[in-house]
Amino acid sequence: MNTLLLKDNEKDIEKAGEILAKGGLVGIPTETVYGLAANALDGKAVEKVFKAKGRPMDNPLIVHIQDIGDIEKFNLVSEFSGKAKALAEKFWPGPLTIIMPKGKAIPDEVSAGLDTVAIRLPEHQVARKIIKAANTPLAAPSANISGSPSPTSVKHVLSDLDGRIDAVLDGGHSRVGLESTVITVATEKPRLLRPGGVTLEQLESVVGEVDVDEAVFNKLGENVRASSPGMKYKHYAPRASVILLVGSDSAYRDYVNSHADYHVAALCYDSDISGLTVTTFSMGSKEDYSTQAHKLFSSLRKIDKEERITVVYARCPEPRGLGMAVYNRLIRAAGFEVRNLEEV
Ligand code: AMP
Ligand code: MG
Repeated sequence: MNTLLLKDNEKDIEKAGEILAKGGLVGIPTETVYGLAANALDGKAVEKVFKAKGRPMDNPLIVHIQDIGDIEKFNLVSEFSGKAKALAEKFWPGPLTIIMPKGKAIPDEVSAGLDTVAIRLPEHQVARKIIKAANTPLAAPSANISGSPSPTSVKHVLSDLDGRIDAVLDGGHSRVGLESTVITVATEKPRLLRPGGVTLEQLESVVGEVDVDEAVFNKLGENVRASSPGMKYKHYAPRASVILLVGSDSAYRDYVNSHADYHVAALCYDSDISGLTVTTFSMGSKEDYSTQAHKLFSSLRKIDKEERITVVYARCPEPRGLGMAVYNRLIRAAGFEVRNLEEV
């Protein structure tokens, strides 16, 4: 299949809508990462998304809407509770996915057989225009091959999916750079399943205390049932082994330099660069979590291109605010391999 490269103009947005309405697959820009979209109400179209990505069929997809009214108009949920409405009103459009009891219109392929559905209203204008042009909600996981770092530019989408999807629309670099925050309100108490651009602190300011799912920070045991199926899979991983190092600036520098060789790289902060004797990939400055989020996946992809690199020593952000999301993705990229330098 020849993958069409569409641009951010009215004609191409209409074209993307047409392909989607006919059951095709289109890579679309959003403020979190690029999504691989299909008509969310068409089980056959959704099945193609799993095939193109190599995504396990038990990992449900997020349904993207262009207006809050789409929830009722398309029968997407069976209950739009007070808490869900309060979160939607405060954080939509934006990088927050809300899990609610699913409505009649949701095919099993989207919810992977669960009785809940994940919904998001993106902030990216082009994403909303495409949903409107398709005249249907769109199921859209990240537009990458499952397991590789999520795509934050059209180049990343094509490097994974060229020839496997009908089209991709270039809407520039994704602003946030990490996937959306996922919260469920289908439980007694709201529970954070995946940290992202909307922080735990922001969520709690609207709905009071929010539980943090075990899978956010820990590797799940073999037989544990994941509240969010995506959390059990290896994710965001480059080819090289990533090892997270926890410790002071000088402890990090000394450890990396004493392990320096041709195959080693550092995924570090700007302020580390001058003191290191290995190849460096910076995530930005130490306190600037939003730049770290924005650059993380593209740095992992750059590392992937350097064949000689087999070991990456990464700095570990504080798990608070947006740093929690960066930490969550990095710890998965590292397969939970964390070394505490104070104890080495
Ligand atoms: P992605 O689309 O690749 O960003 O992944 C979507 C994330 O949301 C995955 O971690 C899914 O497991 C999670 N998710 C989607 N729908 C549900 C649901 N109904 N219940 C729990 N988690 C969900
Ligand atoms: Mg994904």
